[in-house]
Amino acid sequence: GLTERLQNAMKKLRGKGKISEADLRDTMREIRLALLEADVNFDVVKDFVKTVRERAVGAKVLEGLNPAQQIVKIVDEELTKTMGETEVPLNKAPKIPTIIMMVGLQGAGKTTTAGKLANHLKTDENARPLMIAADVYRPAAIDQLVTVGKQIDVPVFEMGTDTDPVEIVRQGLAKAEEDHNDYVFIDTAGRLQIDEQLMDELARIKELAHPNEIMLVVDAMTGQNAVATAQGFNDKLDVTGVILTKLDGDTRGGAALSIRAVTGKPIKFVGEGEKMSDLDVFHPDRMASRILGMGDMLSLIEKTQKEYDEKQAQELTEKMRENSFDFNDFLDQMEQIQKMGPMDQLMKMIPGMANNPALANAQMDPKDMDHIKAVIYSMTEQERTEPDVLNPSRRRRIAAGSGRPVQEVNRMIKQFNQMKKMMNQVSKGNFSGMQGMMNN
Ligand code: GDP
Ligand code: MG
Repeated sequence: GLTERLQNAMKKLRGKGKISEADLRDTMREIRLALLEADVNFDVVKDFVKTVRERAVGAKVLEGLNPAQQIVKIVDEELTKTMGETEVPLNKAPKIPTIIMMVGLQGAGKTTTAGKLANHLKTDENARPLMIAADVYRPAAIDQLVTVGKQIDVPVFEMGTDTDPVEIVRQGLAKAEEDHNDYVFIDTAGRLQIDEQLMDELARIKELAHPNEIMLVVDAMTGQNAVATAQGFNDKLDVTGVILTKLDGDTRGGAALSIRAVTGKPIKFVGEGEKMSDLDVFHPDRMASRILGMGDMLSLIEKTQKEYDEKQAQELTEKMRENSFDFNDFLDQMEQIQKMGPMDQLMKMIPGMANNPALANAQMDPKDMDHIKAVIYSMTEQERTEPDVLNPSRRRRIAAGSGRPVQEVNRMIKQFNQMKKMMNQVSKGNFSGMQGMMNN
């Protein structure tokens, strides 16, 4: 994948005190190939490589960074810039309802994503959305939206398949007005390819509804086609935002990198699974870190924060900053992570885990998690809060108490210390995964 390729490209530079013209040329070639292979748009790749090269050549040596690290930093910053720099919030109407029209090709994820976003707004701001079924070409499309609506407890306005979609939207909006819904989602039809008839219909809906947000839903797995599609829809409808779906598929990065640059329209959310909760705000900087394989502690914290106690997560962040993360916190984290699942997806977000198959595998097995918990339960309160006191005799006692071999106790304490170190670095803005790689 893109991450491995980029890492390899830059791995060759590590340990070099100075980077020669030839080194730089090689690295740039590798980066170019990595991006092209990840299906990033050709023009975007060209601009990207040019900018990185110019900055690398012109860069003054920053204190504390070796030249290789400096290039990593430049690549990270430019990846972020290419994807739009900062997150862009959902457009809101000055007066309710905010109208969100979902557009995109068939199968891109419009219906699913309308549900996810409605669900997100419900959870986040206690919103009362309404969803309008304006895809009348397949009866199954209406049934699907109704099912989604039931799942998240959001009403669906539908008139079957025999009414003109524009009329359905007109009546749906009237209904929303009457019921004081604060958001309205218009689930429109898609085609396998962009065609005139569909575009006309969407343009007519747009003209009637004056949506605050025309959200283009794009399947990230379609790579270059995703970009062409985005361009096509944007030319006809002047979309206001993009949601990239199926990022949980294999092609992380390619489409995300191209779409903003080609259309100038911001990616606002990303879909990372089929469940209603699998929607995240798009953060360009975090995506850049992820593409570079640095893990994404921030996303993990956000997920934790959402699904569990906000205050607790804040305390964790604070602890990471103060480096006072202890075994009680470790246990809390472990329990939360276990509840959150799916394991591998979450584990990949922890810095160091993404690049450390041994560590990741060791931690991924739920049975291992139970063993780790057993070990922590066998510690005294002092041992949990001051892990430095864990001398060999205490470790033997814990091993006996938890029924685990002492080697395992030792290994676990070592992993805990590594995790603590990584967390501390990440919270200070040092990208440990990358630095570890560079220093090896
Ligand atoms: P529509 O034709 O644009 O309305 O697309 P649907 O909402 O019907 O989605 C098509 C398929 O993609 C469905 O099977 C969805 O479950 C699936 N899907 C949508 N978003 C995601 C995502 O983020 N990840 C994964 N893995 N599947 C998704
Ligand atoms: Mg649909």
